[in-house]
Amino acid sequence: MSDLLPGENIHFDVEVPVLVIGAGACGLTAALKAHDAGSEVVVLERDLSPFGSTSMSSGFIPAPATMLQRSMGIEDSPEQFFEDLRKKAKGKNDLELTKIAARNIGPALDWLAKGHGLEWVLLDDFLYPGHTAYRMHAVPEKTGEGLLARLLAAAEEAEIPILKGAHVTALFAQGSRVTGVQITRPDGQTENIGCDALILACNGFGANADLVKTHIPHLADAPYFGHEGNTGDALMWGLALGGEARHLSGCQGHGSLAHPHNILITWALMMEGGIQVNELGERFSDEHQGYSEQAVPVLEQPDGIAWCLFDERILNLAKSFPDFLQAFDAGAVKSGQSIADLAEATSLPADALELTLAQTSEMTKAKRTDPFGRDFTEKPSIESPFYAVKVTGALFHTQGGLMVDCFARVLRPDGTPLPNLFAGGGAACGVSGPDISGYLSGNGLLSAVSFGMIAGDSAGKMHKP
Ligand SMILES: Cc1cc2nc3c(=O)[nH]c(=O)nc-3n(C[C@H](O)[C@H](O)[C@H](O)COP(=O)(O)OP(=O)(O)OC[C@H]3O[C@@H](n4cnc5c(N)ncnc54)[C@H](O)[C@@H]3O)c2cc1C
Repeated sequence: MSDLLPGENIHFDVEVPVLVIGAGACGLTAALKAHDAGSEVVVLERDLSPFGSTSMSSGFIPAPATMLQRSMGIEDSPEQFFEDLRKKAKGKNDLELTKIAARNIGPALDWLAKGHGLEWVLLDDFLYPGHTAYRMHAVPEKTGEGLLARLLAAAEEAEIPILKGAHVTALFAQGSRVTGVQITRPDGQTENIGCDALILACNGFGANADLVKTHIPHLADAPYFGHEGNTGDALMWGLALGGEARHLSGCQGHGSLAHPHNILITWALMMEGGIQVNELGERFSDEHQGYSEQAVPVLEQPDGIAWCLFDERILNLAKSFPDFLQAFDAGAVKSGQSIADLAEATSLPADALELTLAQTSEMTKAKRTDPFGRDFTEKPSIESPFYAVKVTGALFHTQGGLMVDCFARVLRPDGTPLPNLFAGGGAACGVSGPDISGYLSGNGLLSAVSFGMIAGDSAGKMHKP
């Protein structure tokens, strides 16, 4: 339910200057910034225990020119990052929003560190596809759960109330001005809360099968691996209030979800020299284009299945990723001393596997060119012992959403802002453009944290006493 109700003559049980819907990375960042801007702020979260796609994520946030990056002597800049984002989306992303995100994400991570005690580490053992500098930041746990836990702790420290089990089921509005929200409690009771400004941080529509079918039809049958609460409420409210949405076909897919374990398998496997084969033991794509677009060719293979093949060197690197370790412990990783052993462990055809690995080895030595266009010469060949994980493709989250400006105000189609509605993260139009291939690693949390900070600042300053 995402109704828009007339806002006249409503009794509000309580009134708050700034309300935030959603306690993920965007909502919590927004709340912290609104608080820092001097405003009273309350976060409304439908779950009894905040989780969101943020907790399901790897928690990796790309950011240039941070204090940490500088202290490690890594050269990078918002301009260089912008260029990487632009190139990945072939210039089809909204370049103004992209500039804003690239410029603000570094200051956002530094502010969260200095002002709210978040600790960052930099992932400098491998470059994510399309990034030209080591700029992927994570909390020390290197998980989305760790990131959310630290943001929640910061919000608690700042004494920001987070109402849990508070499902926003309707907005009240007078014209296009939001006057408050209706929340429905787990027992079905409703309460009305008034507000002066509302921040939509309740992500996109990945969990809404009808909207996915309408806007991303090629992934309509793909498994959805994001948070079930992301049913497109922000999009529907924003549109009903007269806002504009863009790039609704944009999304983050992933070509490497362990099957049937449903655990994300890091793409580091591919970037370090691993390959994907189908059930016939044959490669079918250039794995280095990016993990998002790889969802499509993987789902096109027999049974929608691929196997990630790699070796001990890559295994040791992959074990530094907590979700990979989880997959390893769950028995998702098969192994074999020889190709024949691996074929037996995976039920892949031994002859085809032998041929594919022989061809890969020739490509590594530059004796053969990859028909799919991948450059194999930069990493060593896969050597015995061999490892493999069975995977499928999936939709992780949607990247299209409400158009916002540099203050994160939701815009009408004519470019004018709605009076008191702000959006960020998956609720707003992202920086990947309209195609699945436009997603550069980290675009999700990039939008959530940068536009979360901007939305919190704008809404908070509207109400500074
Ligand atoms: C497996 C996986 C791995 C990923 N890895 C990465 C990564 O490493 N780096 C990266 O940048 N991105 C990654 N992403 C994408 C990233 O997780 C999202 O882009 C990001 O978390 C979005 O943050 P958000 O705050 O907008 O949404 P969320 O974290 O989903 O928070 C939205 C919150 O709103 C709540 N909500 C929704 N509707 C309502 C309502 N009506 N009333 C009250 N509450 C509501 C939801 O319950 C939820 O808690 C990954 C995604 C997945 C699924």
